Amino acid sequence: MQSANEMPRYPLFINGEYCEPASGEYTQVINPATGDVVGEVAMGNEADVDKAVAAARNAFDNNSDWRRMSPEKRGKVLKQCAQIVLANAQELALLEVSCSGGTLNRVAGMDIMAVADLFGSLGDEVTQFPFVEALPTRPLPELVNTQVWREPIGVCSLITAWNFPLLLFAMKVAPALAAGNTMIVKPAEITPTSTVRLVELLNTVLPKGVLNVVVGAGSVVGEALTLHKDVDKVSFTGSTSIGRHVQQNAALTMKRVTLELGGKGPGIVMPDADIERVAYGALWGVYMNAGQACESGTRLLVHEDIYDEMIQRLKEVSEEVVVGNPMDPATGMGPMSTETHYNKVMQYIESAVADGAEIVTGGKRADVAGCEGGFFVEPTVIVGVKNDMKVACEEIFGPVLSVIKYSSLDEAIAIANDSDYGLSAGVWTENVVQAQQIARDLRAGSVWINDWHMMRTDAPFGGYKQSGYGREFGKYSISSYVETKSVSTSFERNPAAKKMHKIVHTKLA
Ligand code: NDP
Repeated sequence: MQSANEMPRYPLFINGEYCEPASGEYTQVINPATGDVVGEVAMGNEADVDKAVAAARNAFDNNSDWRRMSPEKRGKVLKQCAQIVLANAQELALLEVSCSGGTLNRVAGMDIMAVADLFGSLGDEVTQFPFVEALPTRPLPELVNTQVWREPIGVCSLITAWNFPLLLFAMKVAPALAAGNTMIVKPAEITPTSTVRLVELLNTVLPKGVLNVVVGAGSVVGEALTLHKDVDKVSFTGSTSIGRHVQQNAALTMKRVTLELGGKGPGIVMPDADIERVAYGALWGVYMNAGQACESGTRLLVHEDIYDEMIQRLKEVSEEVVVGNPMDPATGMGPMSTETHYNKVMQYIESAVADGAEIVTGGKRADVAGCEGGFFVEPTVIVGVKNDMKVACEEIFGPVLSVIKYSSLDEAIAIANDSDYGLSAGVWTENVVQAQQIARDLRAGSVWINDWHMMRTDAPFGGYKQSGYGREFGKYSISSYVETKSVSTSFERNPAAKKMHKIVHTKLA
């Protein structure tokens, strides 16, 4: 769709069709690399949420084609979804890059593949999922057969963040669909375009009302989706503070909740680690998506014996990273998502200096030719960081690595775990046996040994502590979208033979 000024327009998509927002209002979508307006997106409100929830409710309760469909058939549709993603990869990647600032290298080379893989692999997984499980029949005191059924939860509110719009979409939508739910997606209002388009595309193979999208402010649409009495489950990715609020809203009607929140990933560099591998790997761990990833490796704990050598190499490798226009294949790191976010990242860097740490490279605004309207931060390495400094405690969400010196392994593990977060953690060492032991002591949902961002679409992903709960990816994610029911059948026809009945029917012979 296009507006009067020829701008691409993204309305809401409810019950199988595009529809105008109740408010009639649209807002601009900005390319964070250039400051250019790349589209207009509908601003939904509570009335739109009511409409979308009613459509999803109807598709679940009344039309029910989707939830009653056999897992094999749903699996086939999920595989069609994967094909749709691949067939439209270029358009989706360009939409995503132009509103999120993620590099084309990353979106085309990683995210789109992962999105297709999530739909495709869950298409297989759903055929093996134990939707019905038979428990051993118990002969005594009477013949009873019990089955365990796993059923879709119902209508799901799926709220995603701006940093990986398509990937976060697939991490929630694919398992929610696999389990037979219906849903309303709310992308971040600053990065909605790829999500709205993909919802339209997927609706060509899904029954009406199963997959809906309502864009709008989190404080309006997100709030309504987490409070609505006809919503059964909320899955949220975003900040820990809003996650906490979402949990409180959901508690009012006991909605099931999955929360994927912030992180402050510690990587322990052992004295035997390969300096070269750590330099490239740890910086990949923090600079991917310019540090705007929850599971980034943002604290690097380096043993005192190799500290100086490590810092020197981190500085050199960091200075090789190309900051530039995300559309350029030579670019390794793009912009911050917004000016506000840029300012927040710069304030964190300033706080580190004020707290007594030292910037060995970066720390300033990066100028990118042709992208004067964008907000780029230089790849930044800060050393001499103590774990109680603000840069080591709080999620910066920018290209900033905090390096902390340690003397003993016990101290390193204590520092690593001394965080409110527990999403990712890692170990860099040549001794993989010891690494396994360290992994056991690290309180995080994912532990990566000798690399970072080793997320697999078939391995569970999620947080310990205030990084949230519930798991995404693979068969573990289907489990987050089912209710468990036990169905028992008695085969004893004679009331007198039912021993339990005699507790009440004491005269029964
Ligand atoms: P938020 O937590 O505010 O946003 C995440 C999603 O929640 C967005 O879709 C947002 O909508 C929505 N939302 C906002 N308010 C509510 C509400 N009251 N009820 C329901 N949904 C709501 O993250 P920000 O974008 O503000 O980022 C702030 C910080 O959070 C970042 O700097 C980073 O530290 C962290 N973060 C962590 C992420 C992760 O992957 N775990 C992802 C993104 C951010 P909308 O934006 O449209 O208002």
